[in-house]
Amino acid sequence: MNLLERVYVPSTVSSDGSVTSHGCFSTQHTAIEVLKNLLSQAQQQELTRASILTWDIDVVGSEGMNVMAEFECKMCPVCMRTTFWIDLERFKAHCYGSACQAWIEENSIQPDVIDCGWPPTGYAEQFETVEDALNALRNVGNEAEAAGGEARLNIEFS
Ligand SMILES: [Zn+2]
Repeated sequence: MNLLERVYVPSTVSSDGSVTSHGCFSTQHTAIEVLKNLLSQAQQQELTRASILTWDIDVVGSEGMNVMAEFECKMCPVCMRTTFWIDLERFKAHCYGSACQAWIEENSIQPDVIDCGWPPTGYAEQFETVEDALNALRNVGNEAEAAGGEARLNIEFS
């Protein structure tokens, strides 16, 4: 007997607008892992958006479909590559660029606090607005570059 009631479908949107689905999975965990893997390679693929949809089995029409998570890709404030993925449901952003991993996230306890950080130098700070956090990360990138760091070494891909 098949007890599967719902499947999880990670999909991505390219810069030309084409949508690609990457399989359907029986657990949310697997779908997220598949998507994360794709995003970490996304700098070569020019993706602009990504999502995880759920489809309920044996439901006719669009009623059976729901958006579980949606992400938008922006330029990373630190490494300047288009590898900065923003979770649109709950503000949360993370750079999937190699040697970067800059992040911004709403504080889970204090709603008006925005946490951000850049792991390569152990930088972590709190701000009141996302804009302040983005500016702070831009400065971190500028400083790393001025110090001869490698954050922006791979901006251009041949
Ligand atoms: Zn980055």
